[in-house]
Amino acid sequence: MSTSSLIDTLQKMRKFFNSGETRPYKFRREQLQKLRSAILFNEKKLHDALYADLKKSPEESWVAETGFLISEINAALKNLRRWMRPEKTKTNLVNLPSASYIMKDPLGVVLIIGPWNYPLQLLFTPLAGAIAAGNCLVLKSSEFAPATSAIMKEIIEENFPSEYILLTEGDGATIVPAMINGFRFDHIFYTGSTAVGKIIYKMAAEQLVPVTLELGGKSPAVIEEDANINVAARRIALTTFSNAGQMCVAPDYILVNEKVKERFINELEQVVKRFYSEDPATSYNYGKIINERQFDRLINYLQQGKIVYGGKFDKAKLYIEPTIVEEVPEDAPLMTEEIFGPILPIIPFKTFEEAKAIIDRNPDPLAFYVFTGSSKKEKQWVENVSFGGGCINNASWHLTNHHLPFGGIGNSGIGNYHGKNSFETFSHRKAIMKTPTWFDPDIKYPPLKGKLWLFKKVIR
Ligand code: NAD
Repeated sequence: MSTSSLIDTLQKMRKFFNSGETRPYKFRREQLQKLRSAILFNEKKLHDALYADLKKSPEESWVAETGFLISEINAALKNLRRWMRPEKTKTNLVNLPSASYIMKDPLGVVLIIGPWNYPLQLLFTPLAGAIAAGNCLVLKSSEFAPATSAIMKEIIEENFPSEYILLTEGDGATIVPAMINGFRFDHIFYTGSTAVGKIIYKMAAEQLVPVTLELGGKSPAVIEEDANINVAARRIALTTFSNAGQMCVAPDYILVNEKVKERFINELEQVVKRFYSEDPATSYNYGKIINERQFDRLINYLQQGKIVYGGKFDKAKLYIEPTIVEEVPEDAPLMTEEIFGPILPIIPFKTFEEAKAIIDRNPDPLAFYVFTGSSKKEKQWVENVSFGGGCINNASWHLTNHHLPFGGIGNSGIGNYHGKNSFETFSHRKAIMKTPTWFDPDIKYPPLKGKLWLFKKVIR
């Protein structure tokens, strides 16, 4: 689609939104049902595409992509009527006998931009929230997961008219600025790297368009001396190496109390072998790196520490073995950049202060995990580290609970979504006060002279 016909479609979308057709409960419900049916109908195609793009097994795809999305849609369908209901609030003394409430208005035409690592989940979960909130939508899929993008495009085109939902593909650096500069969106929801997030934020600021930015960062996991080491190793290995480590909330590095370091590393090695066999290259459970650019970036990291486990790779297969490294200098890119791959640095620490200082070098991670048996230590960590969201004695699973808001803070993002939070993100809380006409005392109108004492009584 050329830029001018794209902008033309966006104008049509604005008209369609202004017609009010997307507002009624019935319309929203039908679209969510249509989306759910289409995902279930195309489940096999989607799973095949996710395998082609990232070598995800159908099981992993269900947990992290299709099933995840279905559960978000189900939550929206179950609660939509309640979420849409205007929220009654109190009215203060000076405004009595008015009544006050908050309407949940759709924002209008919104743009959702997705990354490649969970190409379906991270584009269609915000889509479900935006449909529930009554918006028109433009989706921009990642060009680096083309197989999944093609099926998502098919699903959108077969089920929704282009003036309601449009999926655009192509090079983000070209198509996104063309859209943002040629049309004023009512909201931009972006998931991806912090670097591109800043570009989007600047473009949006030019037109005062509000944004949600779901970004990345270096998410640490802390293993305290009193942690259940077996469980910690299993839970960390599961999310660090799932999708070959290309997960925004995967533990990026481990801070482990030096007294349990050897035990933890031994346990982690055993777990990795159990999960992915002695040869993860042939494992049903192990994914691949998305493309050569990411592969080359990750291979460079392998020189930046002492490899204690793994380290094998094969460019032809875009394969990098689950790898554990130690003795990484603090200024090495492995410890200053988000890794986003199956390489896990292990850093021993003696004291809370020492470990906290390491975390503070890359502030505001998207996620943070602490493994400990002590509620005192747990409290100390979660209160003293700034992070988007996280887990105690677990890793990454907080994002699968749609009752929790999912989002970053500072460097890792702005805003949040999932479940009701998605609906709120794509709605405007419109404040309304309704005042009856039967009561209209002269007292609040000029002349005001001499009424100060009364105003002081009523307004305080
Ligand atoms: P990316 O920033 O390269 O790309 C994301 C999207 O932005 C793509 O659709 C791309 O086409 C578009 N884009 C790229 N350059 C652009 C530009 N100059 N202008 C406008 N749009 C542009 O990110 P990625 O490599 O796809 O994803 C990896 C990053 O995303 C990691 O940092 C990861 O932590 C983060 N991430 C965050 C979350 C989260 O939920 N917070 C989830 C997944 C990934």
